[in-house]
Amino acid sequence: MVLFSWHVLSSTGKLSFGGIFSVAAADFKVEKRLLPHPAIVAIRGGNRAVHSAKGLFGFASQERSATISSNMNMAVFLDRDGTLIQEKDYLCDPDQVIVLPGAMTALHRLQQAGFKLIIVTNQSGVGRGYFTLADVEAVNARVVREFGRQGVNFQKIYFAPEAPEQPSRGRKPSPQFLFDARDEFGLDLARSYMIGDKLIDLECGWNAGVNQCLLVRTGYGAEQERKHPGPVSRAVVVDDLPAVADWILHSRSR
Ligand SMILES: [Mg+2]
Repeated sequence: MVLFSWHVLSSTGKLSFGGIFSVAAADFKVEKRLLPHPAIVAIRGGNRAVHSAKGLFGFASQERSATISSNMNMAVFLDRDGTLIQEKDYLCDPDQVIVLPGAMTALHRLQQAGFKLIIVTNQSGVGRGYFTLADVEAVNARVVREFGRQGVNFQKIYFAPEAPEQPSRGRKPSPQFLFDARDEFGLDLARSYMIGDKLIDLECGWNAGVNQCLLVRTGYGAEQERKHPGPVSRAVVVDDLPAVADWILHSRSR
């Protein structure tokens, strides 16, 4: 697999960065140099590269992509309620934040191994009128503070405040927030993981093309495992976040 960036050449000759994609090495061929810069080559062939360009005049810079590839970050995306902290239906009080056993150490291990930690959470209680955005932010701030005390730092918390029937840009199972994080933090989703206690968390990760999704049996996890055995079988199911850290770190060393 080779990682490329693609660029768009405007009618004025301006070359702008378009995105990143990976292709099997056998699927592309260098057709000809189109610009004076020695690294600029055209991509041709029936592969994903062409589809990524969506008909635009696309170019790839192998030289630039080599730099991007080595600098790209891995992330562990984490659901909040039932995964990091105790599930309490429609949590809106920071004083009710209880970090799940072993979560601090588990995330610290992943962080030390080079993973960025990013929370992705649906907070439909806002859209349903149960609590406010300020309540969500107060709970998030408590979570950040609790983990921060142990040296665990989250890059960002993405949350979707909409109720399920409301239009939403990022409500899981949408992969949108993972795409946003990829673009914001230079993440390689194919080397990243999604962790949660519900099927929608797993679906979010699958929709984004992460390396692996893991279901924890904390929160609603054990119930979801019983309720959706078929779809969940595609994920790795473990008891809790310490087991998540074990699985990810061991799988990387295999
Ligand atoms: Mg949850």
